[in-house]
Amino acid sequence: MPRIQLLSDHLVNQIAAGEVVERPASALKELLENSLDAGSQNLQIELQAGGTKLLKVIDDGCGIAKEDLALALHRHATSKIASMEDLARVATLGFRGEGLASVASVSRLSLTSRFTDRDNGGQMSAHAWRVEADHGRMLDPEPAALAIGTTIEVHDLYHQVPARKKFLKSDATEYAHCAAMIERLALANPNVQFTVMHNGRAQHRWMAGDLAKRAAAIIGDEFVKTGIPVDEGFGNLRLHGIAGSPTLGKSSRDAQFFFVNGRFVRDKVVQHALREAYRDVLHHNMHAAFCLFLEMDPEGVDVNVHPTKIEVRFRESQAIYRFLITSLSKALAKTTAGAATQDTP
Ligand code: ADP
Ligand code: MG
Repeated sequence: MPRIQLLSDHLVNQIAAGEVVERPASALKELLENSLDAGSQNLQIELQAGGTKLLKVIDDGCGIAKEDLALALHRHATSKIASMEDLARVATLGFRGEGLASVASVSRLSLTSRFTDRDNGGQMSAHAWRVEADHGRMLDPEPAALAIGTTIEVHDLYHQVPARKKFLKSDATEYAHCAAMIERLALANPNVQFTVMHNGRAQHRWMAGDLAKRAAAIIGDEFVKTGIPVDEGFGNLRLHGIAGSPTLGKSSRDAQFFFVNGRFVRDKVVQHALREAYRDVLHHNMHAAFCLFLEMDPEGVDVNVHPTKIEVRFRESQAIYRFLITSLSKALAKTTAGAATQDTP
């Protein structure tokens, strides 16, 4: 047996990148979540070749100070948590400090940012700075021009990582994954404007507005028109959003959006509760459409289960389960279709 040795940071990053950045859509998710965490109101997204050639995000968030720019690409470097207590109540989408490091280790990346000091009356730095990294090898920051916020470009994701590259699907499939990812984030942030381009062609432009407007643009007018507004609370739990009308059953789960504290999740407890609530009102091999938001005490939900954070673990999953069924059944009972058959649990 060879002697034990510590892996280089670069190798550690590449290995971890396989977990965090499974495909272009997951890299894009890291970028967009950072922009949202930075308080952006306007996000411009440009993709080429399904994101494999280029992922570009232009935001108007708070930016990154020059001194922090290189750190941003470092593993376990984050401005979002500093202690175990913070971890227990994490309110931002990111917190592990590994998103950018992972993406940077498997691509050529350029990060340009102009810092706005929001704690100091919005004082802006004199100009922007840019760092570039080539598969984790970083160059020193250089002065750059940018009016506001952060622009990040990720080129050739996985092109030099053959073991990963071969798992990428066609550009069209990778784009579809990116688009689905963008939709989730756009539904959770209707007050933020999103523009999406792919291969130089405009795909979407969603102006800032409310949930109904955003859901109409993404899930469909019909969904919003026939949907049932939900707003139910119990203790520190609140469920709000739009429950699709039982008459609007879908053949797939594509129109099922569920968010916990603003984060899209796919969770067994949630799925089971929603299926139960719809069971008596929906044709049995149809899937409900919904766009629902559960707000709860961050300490009651562990979002630290997996790096990509689509899974969560509820501390009191039984209570959540009952709350979801009760709230949703109540809302569905308001529709005429539901009223006849719904029995309250
Ligand atoms: P995390 O989001 O978990 O903190 P990341 O590696 O994704 O880790 O980002 C590292 C840090 O870089 C963030 O904590 C944040 O301070 C900064 N950052 C990254 N992207 C942006 C952005 N678009 N705007 C402002 N700050 C950013
Ligand atoms: Mg992040």
